[in-house]
Parts: sequence; structure tokens; C-alpha cells
Amino acid sequence: MPIDATLPYDDTNIFARILRREIPAKTVYEDDYALAFHDITPRAPVHILVIPRGPYASWDDFSANASEAEIAGFVRAVGKVARDNGLVAPGYRLLANTGGDGGQEVAHLHVHLFGGRRLGPMLVE
Ligand code: 5GP
Repeated sequence: MPIDATLPYDDTNIFARILRREIPAKTVYEDDYALAFHDITPRAPVHILVIPRGPYASWDDFSANASEAEIAGFVRAVGKVARDNGLVAPGYRLLANTGGDGGQEVAHLHVHLFGGRRLGPMLVE
């Protein structure tokens, strides 16, 4: 069920629980601003989720309310995870589903990082 991206942050979401280490995740990178881990249902040979450490429900919330340091730190982390996983030369795709039409299921901002094969058309109906 997609989330309503206009609602305030709720720290019971599954990625908040991963950040608090209440449930496990296959972490590939972490720093002061971001945590990156493998998606539990990978849709590509590489499917990593990168999330900010701060309590932001969506791309909308993050882009409006995060500090300059949080935004810079998060963006740099996404790029570093792609580089560290050898994805720059072959190429990769970033996706941030937002709200209902975007199909966002987890109410903590996450960027999907896909790679490892030709990813095909941008949208499939
Ligand atoms: P969304 O649809 O919100 O953009 O993507 C949510 C993603 O989170 C999905 O790709 C889903 O497979 C992934 N996911 C949901 N629950 C968990 C979990 O407990 N652990 C991990 N690693 N990924 C999860």
C-alpha cells in the first residue's frame, strides 16, 4: 500500500528500525549521513537502497527540510556506493519513489540503486 507523502515522519517504519539495528540488513556502506543495504527483494543483479540517517519520510520531506550538510552527505553517499560497487563504467539507475503515484511503500526516504545489467525502458506499464 503506497504511503501518503504529505504525512509527518513516523519512526515505526521498517527502515527506521533498520537504522536503530532492531532488525538486520545486509549493509554495504554507512557514514554520518547515510546507510546503504541490499534490498530484500532485488529487482536487478545489484539493488541497493540508500537512506539518510535523518528522519525524512520522502524525497519531498528531505529536499524541503534537510540541512545542507545532510543533503550533501546523502548525495555523496549515493555516488560513493555506486562507485564502490563498480557501477560507473557499466552504468546504473537511481529511483526515489515518492507518495502514492510514485508507489512509495516505506515512509523513510530511500533511493534505489539498480545495476548489473541493461535496465531497459524507464517505465513499463
Ligand atoms: P518503495 O516501493 O518504497 O520505493 O521501495 C521499498 C523497498 O524496500 C522495496 O524494494 C522492498 O523490497 C524493500 N524492503 C521492504 N522491507 C524491507 C526490509 O525489511 N529489508 C530490506 N532490506 N528491504 C526491504
